[in-house]
Amino acid sequence: MALDNETLEQLIGTVRRFVRERLVPLEHQIAENDAIPPEIITEMRQMGLFGLSIPEAYGGLELSMQEEVLVALELGYTSPAFRSLIGTNNGIGSQGIIIDGTEEQKQKYLPRMASGELVVSFALTEPEAGSDAASLRTTARRDGDSYVINGTKRFITNAPAAGLFTVFARTDPESAGAKGVSAFLVEAGTPGLSLGPMDRKMGQRGAHTCDVIFRDCRVPADAIIGGKEGQGFKTAMKVLDRGRLHMSAVCVGAARRLLEESLRYASERRQFGKPIVEFQLVQAMIADSRAESYAAECMVKETARRKDAGLDVSTDAACCKMYASEMVGRVADRAVQIHGGAGYIADYGIERFYRDVRLFRIYEGTTQIQQILIARNLARDFAH
Ligand SMILES: Cc1cc2nc3c(=O)[nH]c(=O)nc-3n(C[C@H](O)[C@H](O)[C@H](O)COP(=O)(O)OP(=O)(O)OC[C@H]3O[C@@H](n4cnc5c(N)ncnc54)[C@H](O)[C@@H]3O)c2cc1C
Repeated sequence: MALDNETLEQLIGTVRRFVRERLVPLEHQIAENDAIPPEIITEMRQMGLFGLSIPEAYGGLELSMQEEVLVALELGYTSPAFRSLIGTNNGIGSQGIIIDGTEEQKQKYLPRMASGELVVSFALTEPEAGSDAASLRTTARRDGDSYVINGTKRFITNAPAAGLFTVFARTDPESAGAKGVSAFLVEAGTPGLSLGPMDRKMGQRGAHTCDVIFRDCRVPADAIIGGKEGQGFKTAMKVLDRGRLHMSAVCVGAARRLLEESLRYASERRQFGKPIVEFQLVQAMIADSRAESYAAECMVKETARRKDAGLDVSTDAACCKMYASEMVGRVADRAVQIHGGAGYIADYGIERFYRDVRLFRIYEGTTQIQQILIARNLARDFAH
């Protein structure tokens, strides 16, 4: 349900204040400690941030896509680790249940996800199946009224904290592609489910990923999302549209921050007797960053509007993800350049953002996969 203007403004204002007054001052500490303080997690829960996209009937805020994009824009302004914490509950982790889950599954899990009591992870990627996710090898063999899951999932966000995993596994051993894949809800602590050591990443310290390993992990037959075999890959693909728009908005938020930091530094830093912001070559970098982030913002807001209107936005959501994630990479690179040597030194935080935003071009579909998707959809539409 769409919020009225006043409530929406209140929500955005609250998130903006929280981000700028509470989270920004903690950025350095989070990167140092590789952990988000528990009191911040509690505050995020109280604000409803874990349930932005979850229906009100299950305790969430049920934001429209346009509203969610506005919140994601605010959250993007600070270290991506904070957003990552709530990312799976709002996006890839919960949406499968919201879109395709049975009523029983929704009742059982969504209220605790919305409150942040239950963290959910999305386990699709495997050591041998990344971009080619449909080739996944994890199997789920039917055995009486249960399934037995075997396989390894890789780079799974929030897995170390997760109480629940949306796991994609092959139920039809005869089918090598997407058709034989089903999605399961597997609770942490189920015998046969274990976690690998935490991955050591290039950036986004404070956000955690690890392997999720299944060895003869037995789950009840009703753990299949929607109760039907063979629908899992379709579910995964439906989930990704919303995630791509959310992610694009986070990129725009990060670009805003980087531009502000660049302007602040360029106005204060003096060389050759004047602030460097007065040099036209520096101005060119600032102008390029503003134009590109503005373009991405317009794309994201317009695509979100069209998604809310019920239109098929899969091509445009891929355009947004591709453009916004590449855009923020260029903006971060220019921010380092504008800061000169200081841009390379950890104390200023710019190099940290530069490393943090690098991930956006890789996960939830690499830039190359977005390109393939966009061109394939256009060619298909042209042919009809
Ligand atoms: C920090 C982090 C968090 C993640 N979180 C999750 C998560 O929560 N859940 C989850 O399931 N996964 C997650 N992933 C996995 C992520 O989605 C994959 O890493 C990503 O999809 C790419 O897969 P890959 O790493 O196997 O790369 P590959 O697929 O091996 O790709 C390597 C390179 O080849 C290119 N390439 C591949 N195929 C083609 C093609 N057909 N044409 C042109 N170029 C191609 C790619 O674009 C890329 O440049 C995460 C990854 C990271 C690093």
